[in-house]
Amino acid sequence: MATDKKRITIVGAGLTGSLLGVLLGQRGYQVDLYERRPPETGNDADSGRSINLALSQRGIVALESAGLMDQVQNLLIPMKGRMLHLEDGRSQFSAYGQRPNEVIYSVSRRDLNSLLVQEAIKAKEVNVHFQRKCETIDFKKKTLTLINEAEGSGDRAEEAISFETLIGCDGAGSQVRRSLIEHVGGQTESVFLDHDYKELEIPAAATGGYRFDKNALHIWPRGQFMLIALPNLDGSFTVTLFLPKRGEPSFESLSDAAALEEFFEDVFPTAKAAMPDLGEDFFDHPTGRLGTVRCQPWHVEDYGLIMGDAAHAIVPFHGQGMNCAFEDCSELLRLLDQYDDDWTQVCAEFTASRKSNADAIAEMALENYTTMRSTVTDPKYALKKEIGFELELRFPQHYIPRYSMVMFHTMPYAEALAAGARQRDILDRLTQSVDQCADVDWDLAEKLVKQS
Ligand SMILES: Cc1cc2nc3c(=O)[nH]c(=O)nc-3n(C[C@H](O)[C@H](O)[C@H](O)COP(=O)(O)OP(=O)(O)OC[C@H]3O[C@@H](n4cnc5c(N)ncnc54)[C@H](O)[C@@H]3O)c2cc1C
Repeated sequence: MATDKKRITIVGAGLTGSLLGVLLGQRGYQVDLYERRPPETGNDADSGRSINLALSQRGIVALESAGLMDQVQNLLIPMKGRMLHLEDGRSQFSAYGQRPNEVIYSVSRRDLNSLLVQEAIKAKEVNVHFQRKCETIDFKKKTLTLINEAEGSGDRAEEAISFETLIGCDGAGSQVRRSLIEHVGGQTESVFLDHDYKELEIPAAATGGYRFDKNALHIWPRGQFMLIALPNLDGSFTVTLFLPKRGEPSFESLSDAAALEEFFEDVFPTAKAAMPDLGEDFFDHPTGRLGTVRCQPWHVEDYGLIMGDAAHAIVPFHGQGMNCAFEDCSELLRLLDQYDDDWTQVCAEFTASRKSNADAIAEMALENYTTMRSTVTDPKYALKKEIGFELELRFPQHYIPRYSMVMFHTMPYAEALAAGARQRDILDRLTQSVDQCADVDWDLAEKLVKQS
């Protein structure tokens, strides 16, 4: 390991920046972490950001590498599968995996972010500067300007600082990305969905317990749109409505309390019965946009890099944005090991290896929207899932369902995407004239799986 380490400047102490700061501090780097928000709120969900998130294996591996999983564990609620709330009023549970550890975890964004920021503050190698909004970056001169928003009401003092190595972890609307891409003459593409989202709440029951099974991710799939709910530690669920922007029904059409009441009564009656503050929540809470950001390159020589949502924001339907961002951190640390802290090689290799994987999870996340809001109710989907699990049991060396590859394993996302395409062909063949798992031609299955 090289001893003469560069100083690292990180913009953004969200999930990515704070974990990265901790990891680089542990590696002996002097880190300055600049965050535009004040310390009290950290990365609070005050701007329509999701209140809770699903944490899975890739994120866990990164948190473990920072020695933080023991603390994070206290914030987690295991979700073993999807609880589908069907239109006819029935609920149907569908497990995510088939081994005891194959679960995902609901975690509060605020609690997790706050834990990571506190760890960064505790680390003697890391200086966290709150209320510093990065305004401009000059990659030629290696300087950036910060607006000091802590300077009394209305006073916005500007500070200019120089940096040795700058890492932008400033989220989907990244200022660092804009400057980096401009400096190197790269490209950015932001594609927004025609659907938005809004967060609502199912409060704890009067007795303090949960109103629905707390160990599931609840989905009310309704074809073109859906409602989901993830459990919180206090007995409540954070509910997210995903709906088209315009048309019928849409955020535009739910313009008054009567329309909202009627829509929920008609389409989500079981959820509505558990949402006493629906009207207030709906009209008070912001509506969020959903988009994918793809850009390249992600680095400037050996001294500029973007990571997390700043490099690759994705839609939330695979629950992987944060997990992928945490995996970015693991991968950067792995490359620092591999290249003995030679940032020229690390930056180039990081961009090369992560870009294709980020593109792959972006694609799978988009696909998963259709799966969650619609395909999950198709009996053929359930049959294919059951057969997929059976193939995994019978041929564990050759078959892991794609969902499990993404959520419970750490193989590159691009490999999971490619394997998923082969799996789709196999499952299509095996279910051509079969309505139940017991009738599958297992000799054919073995042949197909082993040659895929
Ligand atoms: C509705 C929804 C649900 C989601 N669910 C999941 C899920 O279940 N699982 C999952 O893995 N992911 C999920 N995600 C994705 C996840 O939220 C993001 O991938 C994750 O927050 C990325 O972290 P980040 O630190 O890169 O960016 P951010 O969380 O956006 O953090 C960026 C930080 O930079 C700061 N900042 C921004 N600009 C500046 C500036 N100019 N100067 C200084 N500071 C700045 C911000 O204040 C913020 O603290 C979801 C996203 C949404 C929208």
